[in-house]
Amino acid sequence: MVPRIDVRNAVARKNFTGGLDFSFDAEEGLIDIPYVEFASPVKASLHYEIFSDGKAEVTGTLSFLLKGLCSRCLAEAEKETVYEAEGVFSPSPKDEEYGYSNGTVDLREFLRDSVLFALPSRLLCRHCAEDESE
Ligand SMILES: [Zn+2]
Repeated sequence: MVPRIDVRNAVARKNFTGGLDFSFDAEEGLIDIPYVEFASPVKASLHYEIFSDGKAEVTGTLSFLLKGLCSRCLAEAEKETVYEAEGVFSPSPKDEEYGYSNGTVDLREFLRDSVLFALPSRLLCRHCAEDESE
């Protein structure tokens, strides 16, 4: 379940910062490495800050486990990925900002983009990873 940030309510209560800890299932379609899938839901540990101009900044970590076959030798492989995510939400978004409306920030597009950025281009088993680092 992906929570929303109720900006209007937070501002009314003068709660300008907060934390969000949750997990969600990422779309398998985001992965374009053959024979690899998410072995776990994505864990999100986020912090948000709401500014006086109505913008909300969200930062934190996303972590998930990838599992499947090594992109080099097809042995079984898995990899824990931890990604520092950051996004700015604005009622009138510019450039890289995400928009939000009705005083509520919907994190789903941001999370989808962040998982996409976090994904490696391939998955290597321990043996191949050691091989490549030599
Ligand atoms: Zn391998």
